[in-house]
Amino acid sequence: MKLNIKDTFNIELPADPIMENSRRQVKEACYSFVTPRKTSKAQMLHVSQEMLKKIGLSVSDSTSDSFLKVFTGNEVLPNTKPYAMCYGGHQFGNWAGQLGDGRAINLCEVQHNEERWALQLKGAGETPYSRTADGLAVLRSSIREYLCSEAMYHLGVPTTRALSLAITGDQVLRDIMYDGNPAYEKGAIVCRTSPTFIRFGNFEIFAARGDSKNLKKLADYTIEHFFPHLGKPSKETYLQFFEEVSERNLKMVIDWQRVGFVHGVMNTDNMSILGLTIDYGPYGWLEGYDFGWTPNTTDSQYKRYKFGSQPDIVLWNLYQLANALYPIIEETKGLETILAEYRASYTKQYLHMMRSKLGLSGIADTDVLLIKDLEESLHLTETDMTIFFRNLGNFKMGKPSQGFKIVSDAFYIRTEVTDSLKRAWDKWFERYANRLQQELLSETERKKKMNQVNPKYVLRNYMAQLAIDDADKGDYTMIDELFNLLRKPYDEQPENQKWFAKRPEWARHKVGCSMLSCSS
Ligand code: AMP
Ligand code: MG
Repeated sequence: MKLNIKDTFNIELPADPIMENSRRQVKEACYSFVTPRKTSKAQMLHVSQEMLKKIGLSVSDSTSDSFLKVFTGNEVLPNTKPYAMCYGGHQFGNWAGQLGDGRAINLCEVQHNEERWALQLKGAGETPYSRTADGLAVLRSSIREYLCSEAMYHLGVPTTRALSLAITGDQVLRDIMYDGNPAYEKGAIVCRTSPTFIRFGNFEIFAARGDSKNLKKLADYTIEHFFPHLGKPSKETYLQFFEEVSERNLKMVIDWQRVGFVHGVMNTDNMSILGLTIDYGPYGWLEGYDFGWTPNTTDSQYKRYKFGSQPDIVLWNLYQLANALYPIIEETKGLETILAEYRASYTKQYLHMMRSKLGLSGIADTDVLLIKDLEESLHLTETDMTIFFRNLGNFKMGKPSQGFKIVSDAFYIRTEVTDSLKRAWDKWFERYANRLQQELLSETERKKKMNQVNPKYVLRNYMAQLAIDDADKGDYTMIDELFNLLRKPYDEQPENQKWFAKRPEWARHKVGCSMLSCSS
């Protein structure tokens, strides 16, 4: 196994001088060196062939003993020095102080085909940042992260990715619903990949500690390696950097709204500086279209991170980043302008995205209302988002009265679909048909375009749970089945039609399907 290792983070940035793996506050450093812990009996369950290629490895590498050892933390690659990153964060609206990689260990950075990848093990044991927890990850959460990050990539949503999924052979104790019923679960490790895992929180921790010197070092490093087009660091460059981070995160959240992804824990330590979806925890996929939905039971009281709030939360998080960068910019006006711009851009881009879901290429004044009324109608009764938009592609503008029938598979409880509801839909389809008359595309072309933004297959919450239930019993075939299905989420896959279906009723209130906690 030969990787082209090109470490920068743990070479160019200041390290914690203490080498001991004890929990502590780490000051004036970006990371601490730490060795992954050995596992009892590691077994590789799945490897992403695409990621393998991306880092310059072959299929035969992935079946080697050394691959298994390295990506389960049992062997450290020669000339590398694994490390855990130091960051802080605002959790659920409050400054939480130092957090850091409590159960993530970066192995190294690899360069291949002009791309750079940091390889990071999640669940490979404790670090100086583990606080009160064990540094481990359980199989269910690891399957969820592994499948979802790759699925998001294929949906065209900016995301970190995953190289491999393994079980450790160790048992991990978790109280899933935090109700005093802890139980042992299988331990697992995902190797995740990203150009960098730097988060908003990496900047916040230095700002909170008044350490402008290291804040600047981190900003300069980030710009040099990941925003090189911005040029030599200066106050002006830091502003441009902030602007680009803002734009990238906006793009990411618009994509979430497009496909119905709810992150669940949008704390600032879970916000990537590259605008990538990061830290797949109690995330979920919309089944019923509902702005008020969150899968995270830990957030069920205030629903801070519900579907409809995600774009505002990105903005809230950008405010925290702006505050963190202020000491090296020393001027608020530029930052404020960028933050104001986010809101305006959001409205524009959201509208553009919703138009694309409806197959509207042109622009009409009535679009805003047409979309608002659609969103309201989608909330009238539980309506499956994925099925609704995918089937909408079959709408014929000459036959508005058939619209209701075309999307009717999306309604969860048919008896609830009363006459008045049907009338509301009929009216909306009339307006939609009229609007489509103004479009230039043919019906076939419109459907083709709609199918490129309205996925047919997403990782519905119960699907991941089915793969988890099987895996708990030692059967890993469904992981592979879902992995392959989700590689082509926009394609018709007649052999996989069974996954283009509403959530079964048994999954409605099942833990792991609609209810997830931060326990992972
Ligand atoms: P999260 O909500 O998963 O993003 O985690 C918030 C913080 O808790 C991060 O600093 C994580 O590294 C840490 N953390 C979460 N789970 C564990 C664990 N099992 N062991 C150690 N640290 C953890
Ligand atoms: Mg996190």
